Amino acid sequence: MTHVCLTFDFDALAIWVSTFKQTTASPLSRGEFGAQVGLPRVLELLRRKSIRATFFVPAHTAVSFPERVQKILEDGHEIGSHGYCHESPVTLVDGEEVRLLTASIEKMQKVLGSAFRPVGYRSPAWDLSSQSIAILQEQGYLYDSSLMGGDFEPYRPRRGDRIDEHGFELGAESSLVELPVSWELDDYPYFHFSSRPLNQGLRSTDEVRALWQAEFDYCHQHVRNGVFTLTNHPEIIGRGPRIAMLEELIDHLGSKPGVTFSTCSDAAQTWREAHPESRQ
Ligand SMILES: [Zn+2]
Repeated sequence: MTHVCLTFDFDALAIWVSTFKQTTASPLSRGEFGAQVGLPRVLELLRRKSIRATFFVPAHTAVSFPERVQKILEDGHEIGSHGYCHESPVTLVDGEEVRLLTASIEKMQKVLGSAFRPVGYRSPAWDLSSQSIAILQEQGYLYDSSLMGGDFEPYRPRRGDRIDEHGFELGAESSLVELPVSWELDDYPYFHFSSRPLNQGLRSTDEVRALWQAEFDYCHQHVRNGVFTLTNHPEIIGRGPRIAMLEELIDHLGSKPGVTFSTCSDAAQTWREAHPESRQ
């Protein structure tokens, strides 16, 4: 069995405001493209393929485009946490990380209803503070999807690792499930063009489809019960030729025996049931 988790980080304007700190009209309009053009194309493709996917959404995006975000849930997809305004948790100190995580849920509940409670977290920076895993565990999260300690096999992220020039000491495993990400399986480095920070991007869809297919084929052939987690962004993958390439990729993946498209929470839950905690 291979789980395929299609994930979409719906950053919209938040990444431009927070991460890139570019709030003039043109960069903001790139975020707007993600909400107004890219997301509907992604949802239409998923609907046509009867695939449930996972969207990581900053609270900033939810309140900026409430109908778009409501539609994600209405279509049966999972929504996970992705920051208050796409901030990196790495530099947050003294309770600010907990405060922003809590505030982001409260803000999302205003759009998605008071019953909305995400079980998954993806750091907007694909990096965590020394407290992040403990905070997510305390807040009852099932999984994180921000680290790169594996490729196709989930694992339990640790708290309290110690690293210095003398060596590396592993901390205790948490009860969370880590669904690892990778730059290889992300549309951003391949396609996104940016002069600040410099990212050439703009690679051809043929090239990227071949790379992603090769990654998947290895997972499918060599990793038992592997989880293939692919990260896309509506503002990037939503351009015509790229969404067409994603459809071709989905058809390739779906043509293989034993492949299930699932949300991250379903994949994490399945993995957790097969791997009871050895220690806390
Ligand atoms: Zn993001």
